[in-house]
Amino acid sequence: MEHNSSNFIKTIIKEDLETGKRDYVYTRFPPEPNGYLHIGHAKSIVINFGLADEFKGKTNLRFDDTNPLKEDTEYVESIKEDVAWLGYDWDGLFFASDYFEEMFNRAVLLIKKGKAYVDDLTADEIREYRGTLTEPGKESPYRNRSIEENLDLFERMRNGEFGNGEKVLRAKIDMSSPNINLRDPVIYRVSHATHHNTGDTWCIYPMYAFAHPLEDAIEGITHSLCTTEFEDQRPLYNWVIEECEMEHKPQQIEFGRLGITNTVMSKRKLKQLVDEKVVDGWDDPRMPTISGLRRKGYTPKAIREFVKETGVSKGFATADEAMLEHFVREDLKLQAPRTMGILKPLKVVITNYPEDQVEMLDAEINPEVPEMGTRQIPFSREIYIEQEDFMENPPKKYFRLFPGNEVRLKHAYFIKCEDVIKDKNGNVIEIHCTYDPETKSGTGFTGRKVKGTLHWVDAKHALPAEFRLYEPLILDKQKNEEVEGEVESSEEKTFLDYINENSLEVLHGFIEPNMKDIQPQDKFQFFRHGYFNVDPKHTTAEKTVFNRIVSLKSSFKLK
Ligand code: ATP
Ligand code: MG
Repeated sequence: MEHNSSNFIKTIIKEDLETGKRDYVYTRFPPEPNGYLHIGHAKSIVINFGLADEFKGKTNLRFDDTNPLKEDTEYVESIKEDVAWLGYDWDGLFFASDYFEEMFNRAVLLIKKGKAYVDDLTADEIREYRGTLTEPGKESPYRNRSIEENLDLFERMRNGEFGNGEKVLRAKIDMSSPNINLRDPVIYRVSHATHHNTGDTWCIYPMYAFAHPLEDAIEGITHSLCTTEFEDQRPLYNWVIEECEMEHKPQQIEFGRLGITNTVMSKRKLKQLVDEKVVDGWDDPRMPTISGLRRKGYTPKAIREFVKETGVSKGFATADEAMLEHFVREDLKLQAPRTMGILKPLKVVITNYPEDQVEMLDAEINPEVPEMGTRQIPFSREIYIEQEDFMENPPKKYFRLFPGNEVRLKHAYFIKCEDVIKDKNGNVIEIHCTYDPETKSGTGFTGRKVKGTLHWVDAKHALPAEFRLYEPLILDKQKNEEVEGEVESSEEKTFLDYINENSLEVLHGFIEPNMKDIQPQDKFQFFRHGYFNVDPKHTTAEKTVFNRIVSLKSSFKLK
């Protein structure tokens, strides 16, 4: 069962309902379609949809598409897919660009009230005039244009008479406000760019800080939940609602962003990884994107449970990636069929097993869930084991195969290593063993014990498979050590300097023949190797490609 814990936003909502400040709950998830969603967004999704669900409210999916240069319908489609895959149904589906006309009219209203003006200062000048945290800003020489002149200029901005950056519309608030966001923020800019939704209808676009409160008000959002970097913008948010005379008044509430160790979490950086081909797309299994996690084999439930466990607070929380892994293991434990796969094959010939004999062995599909039944595994004279499961000169406490040693083959027999065959360079190419028919698994043999149990596949019947093993994309440890001064570092490093060159290992091995009909996104637990997902992008009729979701062991302990 998924749990719901209490948090400060829930407390606010409860109070609002009890005091009658609100009589319903309406939230929204408002991504900008300028990239694919990442697990940080999952936090916002879970909070927004989760709270609305709990209070029988509604949630909109709204695309905050006020920046035509960065936005694209490819992103719109991927975001819809990811939100639905995570298990959420939106009530309304909207685009900020649906409201461009209304936003324009509200800006005109501000001008008419003497609360907005057209400014000719350049972006650099505006920045200069803005002042700093300790010094007040300076008023623009254009600040006191007449209402008529402003109305005329704004209309002409809309009509395309000015080039990019030539003029902006600014809210007229207070250039000496201690809150820099209130020092006459720009609310409209000229941008001659084709918009993914409105095409060339517009050449002026509202700024986020102006657009967002209007979108919330138009949709009747009650609780506008965002991350804490918007805290300083809250006074401006409320100013826009008031001065634009919006009837409905939403309330902005901020919560802390989610981060994860050993990765980056910002669309801008993730896009850089894609554009510079560090990864093979937004859905590369090493990416912290929802689509990457899906392709790696994560389940929606694992992601939801993980996000819930990180809680809702004002502080920025960096979760250990081991915690994310914990939740996918938990979810797959009782679902994923068990199987055997050999990632780095070494051939073993069982010399006393009859040449043409094949027997079918019975094995449980999931010993923790007997109802899942059994599968059949062929066994014959030649099998593959893992290269690492054989050593010619083993150290002490090596219980696997070595000359003279006997081990158990999972679901099959005991075998004993009799001979090692090498090529002319001295490389081991084949092991010769004998088996003891008395020791067959499931017959209750108790004659003697062996310490090692090896997994294997039948060489003649096994299917070829590719296994992709992943390591973190970014080496946090190295990065942190440099930041802490333990290691010498030059100044100008970016996250791209901490890319792990060994984040992907591709191996070619074999799987049990009963897996011939498996489908993309099917998930399995391979004995000793962990959980794997059938890769939807690279799997072909000839070759199945598996992504390792997570290994079996964890250092993570749930509190
Ligand atoms: P990014 O910096 O990754 O591009 P963003 O905040 O610009 O993120 P938006 O598309 O604006 O991305 O995000 C939609 C919603 O998701 C916003 O309400 C935002 O606050 C929230 N969100 C984004 N990243 C995180 C995160 N790491 N943790 C929690 N919420 C997040
Ligand atoms: Mg953004």
